Amino acid sequence: MTKNDLIQLTVTDLNNLGSGVGHTGDGMTVFIPGAVTGDIVSARVIKVTKTYLVAKLESVLAPSPYRKGSDCGAALSCGGCVYRHVDYEYEKECKQNYVASAFRKAGLPEVRIGKIQSTGALAGYRNKAQYPVGVDRNGNLFAGFFAANTHRVIPISDCRLTPPIFGEICRAVLALCDTYSVTAYDEQSGKGLLRHLYLRCNGAGEVMLCMVINGKQLPHEQELAGEICKRFPQIVSLFCNVNCENTNVILGEEYRLLVGKPYLEDTLCGKRFRISPQSFYQVNHDACELLYGIAKEKADLRGGERLVDLYCGIGTIGLSMIDRANSLVGVEVVPEAVECARENAKLNGVANAAFLCADLSENEPMLARVAKETGGDFSDSLVILDPPRKGTTRALIEEIAQNSVPKVVYISCNPDTLARDCAIFKENGYQIGEVTPVDLFPRTGHVESVCLLTRK
Ligand code: SAH
Repeated sequence: MTKNDLIQLTVTDLNNLGSGVGHTGDGMTVFIPGAVTGDIVSARVIKVTKTYLVAKLESVLAPSPYRKGSDCGAALSCGGCVYRHVDYEYEKECKQNYVASAFRKAGLPEVRIGKIQSTGALAGYRNKAQYPVGVDRNGNLFAGFFAANTHRVIPISDCRLTPPIFGEICRAVLALCDTYSVTAYDEQSGKGLLRHLYLRCNGAGEVMLCMVINGKQLPHEQELAGEICKRFPQIVSLFCNVNCENTNVILGEEYRLLVGKPYLEDTLCGKRFRISPQSFYQVNHDACELLYGIAKEKADLRGGERLVDLYCGIGTIGLSMIDRANSLVGVEVVPEAVECARENAKLNGVANAAFLCADLSENEPMLARVAKETGGDFSDSLVILDPPRKGTTRALIEEIAQNSVPKVVYISCNPDTLARDCAIFKENGYQIGEVTPVDLFPRTGHVESVCLLTRK
C-alpha cells in the first residue's frame, strides 16, 4: 500500500480521537477520521507506517446506522467534537468500551465497568471557553478556535457546547475593541495585543470575562471595560490577563481586575463555591453533580471519617461530602485555588476543614505532611484522588497504602492513567470496585470515570 492509493473498506470500530478503524485485505489497520463503525467507505491513503495507515475519507458508499447528520459545520476543522456525527447512544457505547479496554491493557481484565452515566444534555453544557482572537481581511477582530493541530484561527464563536451568550459577548466585545483600535496578536510575529477571550459563567447566568493581552494594558482600558459591562450587565467580573510570552500557553501569570468581583460564585451539590480565574472548575455543572453524587455513593461514609481530598482545586469534592464526614484536608498546587477552597469552607459554614498548597508530584511524602500540619492518622480516612490527565504518582499510592488508608475514591478524566494507577493500587493490596464512566463531555472524545479502592 502506498500514499495516494484509493481503498474501499468496512469500518469496524471508532476510536476516541474520532477515527473510524478498518483493515485492508492483508490485515493492515487503517485509521479514517470522520468514518463511523459500520460505514462502507472509499478513502485515500495519506500516511503509511510499518504498523498502520491513515486515510482521508473520500466518500461514504453505504452509511452506518450509527451515523447521523452533523449539526456543526466546523466539527471537522475544529476537531473538538469527535462524535458530532454519530448517534449519542453509540457515542456512550464507544466511551464505555474505551474505559474497558484501558483496564484490559493495564492487565486488569477482571475489573467490572459499570454502565456509563450521562445527564443526556448534549449542547450548551460548558461553563468555560477560551477563544483565540484573529483579524479578518477588513482588519476587524474575530473570535474563533484553532483549526485542529494548527495555529490558524477559524472565525466561529458559536460553539454548540457553550451557551449562546458566549458568542454574543465575543462579537460585541471585539466590535468595541475595533473602535478602540485594539490589534489581534499574531503568533508568528509575536506582534499585536489581544490574544484570547476567556469566559466563564455560573448557573445564575453571571459571566466572568478575562481579556488576555500581549502587553501591559489595553488602550483606554477603563473606558473600554466600562462599556463592556454596560452592554452586558451579567458580566460581574472583568479581568485583564497579561501574557507577553511567545508560547501556546493561553494565560500569563498576571491578572488585573478591571471591573466587579475577583471571582464568580456558583452552587454545586447544594454548596456555594467561589471560583477565581486561575482555579480549575468542572466545565459541565450538571454532569459534575452526577459524578460527585456517584463518588459520594461509592464512598459510603458513616459520618466519622476524615476526608483527604488530593488535587482538590477549590475544594468542591471534599466540601460536597463533608456533611457525612468528620473533617476535611485538601491539597492543591495552585495558590489561588487553595485560597478559594479556604473561602469556600467558610462560605458553607464548614469549620473543620484545612487546605494545604503543595505539589503532589514532588517526592515529599504528602500524608506525612498532612499529619504533621493537621494531626491525626489515616486509619479512618477516605482519600479522594482527582488528578489531572497524567494521573497520580506511584510514590503517593505507596504512601496511601503504607498509612493503611481503608478507602480511596479515584475520579479521573483519563481512563488510561486511571487503569495504570489502579494496577499500582492492586499491587499495594487494594481491591478495585466497579468503575463507573460518566459522560462529562458529550460529543467530545473525553470521558470521566470514578471508582472505589478498598484495602484488603
Ligand atoms: N477536585 C477538583 C479539581 C480537579 S482538577 C474539582 O473537582 O474541581 C485537578 C486539580 O489538580 C487542579 O486543580 C490542578 O491545579 C491540581 N494539580 C495538578 N497538578 C498538581 C500537583 N502536582 N499537585 C497538586 N495539585 C495539582
